[in-house]
Amino acid sequence: MCWRQEKKIAVLGCGTVGIATSRLLQESGCEVTIYTKDVPPNVTSNLATGTWSPASRVCDKKIARPEFKDTWEQATRFSFRRFQFLLGMNDIACWAEEYGVFKQAPVYTPGAGGEDFEIDGLLPERVRLEKKEHPFKADHVTRRTNIMFNIPTYLRHQLQDFTMFGGKVKIQEIKKVEDIDALPEKVVVNCMGLGAKPVFNDEELTPISGQLSCLIPQGDVNYKLYTQGANFIARKDGIYIGSNGIVGNWDTTPSREQTEKTVGILMKLMEEMRG
Ligand SMILES: Cc1cc2nc3c(=O)[nH]c(=O)nc-3n(C[C@H](O)[C@H](O)[C@H](O)COP(=O)(O)OP(=O)(O)OC[C@H]3O[C@@H](n4cnc5c(N)ncnc54)[C@H](O)[C@@H]3O)c2cc1C
Repeated sequence: MCWRQEKKIAVLGCGTVGIATSRLLQESGCEVTIYTKDVPPNVTSNLATGTWSPASRVCDKKIARPEFKDTWEQATRFSFRRFQFLLGMNDIACWAEEYGVFKQAPVYTPGAGGEDFEIDGLLPERVRLEKKEHPFKADHVTRRTNIMFNIPTYLRHQLQDFTMFGGKVKIQEIKKVEDIDALPEKVVVNCMGLGAKPVFNDEELTPISGQLSCLIPQGDVNYKLYTQGANFIARKDGIYIGSNGIVGNWDTTPSREQTEKTVGILMKLMEEMRG
């Protein structure tokens, strides 16, 4: 039997991927139960910065199958369209200016957070600003408008829609493949993120850790900025400062040194701004 004929579906995991998958399944007429160890805010998705960045680390170009680009492009266009419907709705998502501020043109490393895959025509073009058009002490400044998500509001909205359409959430940890076999649903979608690694003994699944530090929101700081070694995004719930991405790191212990480093870089940049 084709899985599409099966109407009762189990989704494993209640992060952003699990909830979005469940909503789409509901829209196609399925009854969905989410089985999950944790729910927001205790999921990795609650710690994302909140930038719409569909190309970021999505797949290493060297190992992508030829059909991957098409699949990714279709998914990206679909998600972009869907996110348009959230704009203007209680600050779940909004357009925000995004500045890149560098002493010289940055060199992106493909596969390490650089954009291996790109689509023209969705977002406004990134434009290079003339010196008189920006206040930064830097020679290479760009600006682009991008979609930004207020993460707590977004996850709450998605979860509320899921339950409003009859979805159920059951707190249950999947420890081994047999636990999945024991579920009443015949079709199961894995959205456990990094939690899938031990369940499936997946040798390839690799974490990339990142640390965010949060400042109290400031009324006139309503944009995103990235520079060498640091970035920040101004959300409703705080100004989130980040930058690092350590491939293969499972340790989630916060590092004060990392926070001081990124805050220091941004403080210097702000102090050097022309008034
Ligand atoms: C600092 C930082 C900033 C980021 N910024 C961005 C950004 O701006 N834009 C962007 O697109 N992405 C960003 N990301 C990446 C993004 O956060 C992740 O790609 C995304 O959250 C993954 O979602 P997920 O639903 O797959 O996983 P998770 O949010 O980890 O959800 C996994 C779910 O599975 C459940 N689970 C796990 N194991 C089990 C188990 N054994 N049994 C039952 N349930 C289980 C968990 O409880 C959870 O509910 C960022 C990541 C970090 C760390």
